Amino acid sequence: MTPHVEPDPQAGAAVKAADRAHVFHSWSAQGLIDPLAVAGAEGSYFWDYDGNRYLDFTSGLVYTNIGYQHPKVVAAIQEQAAKLTTFAPAFAIDVRSEAARLIAERTPGDLDKIFFTNGGAEAVENAVRMARLHTGRTKVLSAYRSYHGATSTAINLTGDPRRWPSDTASAGVVHFWAPFLYRSPFYATTEAEESARALQHLEDTIAFEGPATIAAIILETVPGTAGIMTPPPGYLAGVREICDKYGIVFVLDEVMAGFGRTGKWFAAEHFDVVPDLMTFAKGVNSGYVPLGGVAISAEIAATFDKRPYPGGLTYSGHPLACAAAVATINVMAEEKVVEHAADIGETVLGPGLRELAERHPSVGEVRGMGVFWALDLVKNKETREPLVPYNAAGEANAPMAAFAAAAKKNGLWPFVNMNRTHAVPACNVTEAEAKEGLAALDAALSVADEHT
Ligand code: PMP
Repeated sequence: MTPHVEPDPQAGAAVKAADRAHVFHSWSAQGLIDPLAVAGAEGSYFWDYDGNRYLDFTSGLVYTNIGYQHPKVVAAIQEQAAKLTTFAPAFAIDVRSEAARLIAERTPGDLDKIFFTNGGAEAVENAVRMARLHTGRTKVLSAYRSYHGATSTAINLTGDPRRWPSDTASAGVVHFWAPFLYRSPFYATTEAEESARALQHLEDTIAFEGPATIAAIILETVPGTAGIMTPPPGYLAGVREICDKYGIVFVLDEVMAGFGRTGKWFAAEHFDVVPDLMTFAKGVNSGYVPLGGVAISAEIAATFDKRPYPGGLTYSGHPLACAAAVATINVMAEEKVVEHAADIGETVLGPGLRELAERHPSVGEVRGMGVFWALDLVKNKETREPLVPYNAAGEANAPMAAFAAAAKKNGLWPFVNMNRTHAVPACNVTEAEAKEGLAALDAALSVADEHT
């Protein structure tokens, strides 16, 4: 491994000491963590102060869709900083209008108005508010296997256990089961069965909650953090029909799946569905400056034509973030990054991961598309018992911790969540990098195999 800079362990130790003294980290018991001190990053790699370089198969938190430090985006941010670093949201600013135009051009259907936020959770909060005001109803239905963010409403909507400590159960949120054939909540054995039963379950949930009380149904187009579960054919179209039937606003959360990750600009294109509201963040500017937003249909935008929208954020559509978005989208278009993501998924990552699944007893299922893949790790391929129990911590999580340590030893920074590892590199990951990642996963999976 060749680090990009001379190792400087002393500098690393100083960074770490200051971090330990003053930085309060997300999702962590502060006394039990040991964050890696990162010295730099470029493209698909980052490196520490000790001379270790890692291939980032996590894209940060699944957001550096064009990799780290893309020179054109860095330059665009610098140019914007020199020109107009900040300006309040109530004004028309060239770079903000251009970012909105480029995004609206790519969103499906008539989602042509863009409300800017600073990230994904704020986008979800505002989508829910818009849906509630548009319908005059309060409840929002969301899937158990989902993640929608860590702010108040967003965390209540979140189905996975990160909700539990913050769940006020007061946000009018109702959870339901979305399809997931490998661990079917409906005891289905085919995609058609899974789709039909999931739709019936959703209609039954609506019937018992009272259709006239439900403002919105929110779904990740392809649920990400919860396991990259591509919905079966017909499911999202079925949800669209149900929403139309009951006057419910359909929100698709594309914070993770959007901007090339699935090999399309937006995952909704794979399923030929157009939601009423669509949230985005992350890949919109590869996270170089915080940015998210809601793409709004003509009908919902019209609700707020004469009546004010009662919501806003000081940094909404921040010029630096918008400049980064304009540059990122232009880079993605010019360098055909979305097409590349589709192609590398089809020709390298998909086949490579499936080949690993054949050889490794610990791989129960491979799911995904583009640069959005999950390996469901199991103790036993027949029973599909997860390699670690649901929401395992400490000793119970040792097999996944051993897998992650082995990946890092082999120069790969892996995404690990419960019994899964996700292969989610940058959309412009090269073939050689993807193959390097597969080889490191191969070695790490041999360690996971010891726990089957
Ligand atoms: N929705 C989805 C689908 C996400 O994956 C995430 C973040 N992982 C969020 C919302 C929240 O985004 P943020 O962390 O930017 O608030």
